[in-house]
Order: sequence, then C-alpha cells, then structure tokens
Amino acid sequence: MHEYAITESILEIIQTEATRAGAIHVDEVTVVIGELTSFVDDSIRFYFDELAQGTVAEGASLKFQKLEARATCNSCGADFRPRNAFFSCPECRSAVFELRQGQELFIESIDVSQAEPTDIREN
Ligand SMILES: [Zn+2]
Repeated sequence: MHEYAITESILEIIQTEATRAGAIHVDEVTVVIGELTSFVDDSIRFYFDELAQGTVAEGASLKFQKLEARATCNSCGADFRPRNAFFSCPECRSAVFELRQGQELFIESIDVSQAEPTDIREN
C-alpha cells in the first residue's frame, strides 16, 4: 500500500512543476525507480490514474525507467550489481559494500502543454 503515499507525492510535485511552467495539461511523466526498491510500477500507475482525476495531470501517460543497482565493495573495491541488500561481493565475498545506486525513486521528466501565447499588442 506504500505506493499510494508515493503516488500522492509524485502528483504533488507534478502539480507544482506544472503551475510553475504555466501548463494547461501534463502529457507525460517519466519516473525512475531503482531496482532495489519494492515499488510496483503498475500500482503507482493505478493510483495515479485515480488521484490525477480533476487535476492538470488527468490522463497523463506515466512511464517508468528501471535503474540498475550498483555497488562498490569496501574490501576489494570491485564494482558490481547487487541483487538485494544482503548480497556479497562477487570477487571477494565480503558483505560490506557501499550501495551507490538502486534505491531511488524520482521524477525524471514532466512533459506539459502550455497555453498558446496570448497576443496582447494593442492595435
Ligand atoms: Zn570485494
């Protein structure tokens, strides 16, 4: 159920950015999800379609990009892709490593439609 809360936050950011950009409609939003998070993109999409109703983002298409996990071993310095937080280094088997990427969730881009520029010149 934590997708509901994160979707509310995503929508809040979208609305703020859309207002700042003077958008009349949000067309497409790209969200990046680290592969070690437990967020389910289908659930986020489901809540988004529901929560966005009546907002500037209603009907916007939501795209997801998975971000591969990357870690550096603290013992031998190897760079590897951990499959979970309890993984060990494939080179030296050390379980102590620094996770550099894979736990994030952020908005990569927001595409909007803007109002036609109004011609305010006096005749
Ligand atoms: Zn190592």
